[in-house]
Amino acid sequence: MIYLDNAATTKPCKAAIDAMVDAMTNNWGNPSALHRPGMEADRLLQTARKQVATALGGTPDRVFFTSGGTEADNWAIYGTVSTRGKRGKHIVTTKIEHHAILHPMEHLESQGYEVTYLEPDENGYITPQMLAKVLRKDTILVSIMMANNEVGSVMDIATMAKLVHQQCPHGVFHTDAVQGFFKVPFSAKTLGADLISISSHKVHGPKGAGALYIAPTLQLHPYIRGGGQERGFRSGTEAMPAIVAFGAAVASQMDTYRQDIAHMANLRDYVRDTLATYPHVTVLGNGKAPHVLSIAIPPMRSQEILNRLQDLEIYVSAGSACSKGHRSSVLEAMNVAPNLIDCAVRISLDGSNTKEEMDTLLAALKHFGG
Ligand code: PLP
Repeated sequence: MIYLDNAATTKPCKAAIDAMVDAMTNNWGNPSALHRPGMEADRLLQTARKQVATALGGTPDRVFFTSGGTEADNWAIYGTVSTRGKRGKHIVTTKIEHHAILHPMEHLESQGYEVTYLEPDENGYITPQMLAKVLRKDTILVSIMMANNEVGSVMDIATMAKLVHQQCPHGVFHTDAVQGFFKVPFSAKTLGADLISISSHKVHGPKGAGALYIAPTLQLHPYIRGGGQERGFRSGTEAMPAIVAFGAAVASQMDTYRQDIAHMANLRDYVRDTLATYPHVTVLGNGKAPHVLSIAIPPMRSQEILNRLQDLEIYVSAGSACSKGHRSSVLEAMNVAPNLIDCAVRISLDGSNTKEEMDTLLAALKHFGG
């Protein structure tokens, strides 16, 4: 099969599977327990924390494990609001965020917060200039994604974080880096974001793990109260198999992920440039993320394209996996014509995809023109 839906999820790597099996067969202790199996589990937990911290470019004590990107996003938003809500009611986000951001924002609007949604340009980009225009003294939270999951636009997070800290006395800057992590190199220490969300299953780890990076300068209240795990901020016995596998997955890619990025970007350019010569194909946006490419083949509807490719064992996605059945709000915000939105599919790569696979895809798409 040719798997081209890596923005939805990636295949778990061997290092992750081995670590997970080990955590379920040999090292299944509770890391809070004070006996030897517990201490061994705790050692594995701390190793995973170091591995993820190294990959993020932060210190281990600022990495908090979650159940995934959605929880990290929710924690960032509700955590900020619960500590800063008395200082202001204004929040800024964008129209191209994932639902893990947009739905909490809609909820906060119903609770009396004022949310400004930045509109992207026609290629899906949000710029520091757009942000500068809407920041206010009572802005308490700005949440802007690092890389868009549908069209691959990449935002200038460092400049936007700086703007927020300069212009908003109580402003916290969060970035959803679920699609940026290991695709758009950054270091948490120098990025300047107060909060960064990442997810394991987008980087060849298992589902059920993610992390929120909380900058040393930011004080948040506990997010889940209980037994005091995650230094009291996110209680609940740690999902050890998923967490250690997440750590093993990122550690195993530290030496190769930059090469993978260059490789994916080459393949994406090759596919994009070739498709630009097909009269029946429209390339949507101009994403800089190496792994995502969105196209439309009107009048074929997304599901039909997906099905015809599936018959050839080529797997792509009809927009984002999480917005099943809904018209893409990202493409709508980019003012893409409705007839193109209904005919859009996303091709998303990982480091193992080959030029031969791209040629097979391109040959198939060529025939879709009739
Ligand atoms: N944010 C973005 C940009 C995503 O692409 C996704 C998943 O598709 C998420 C958040 C949610 O992450 P998770 O599936 O780990 O909850």
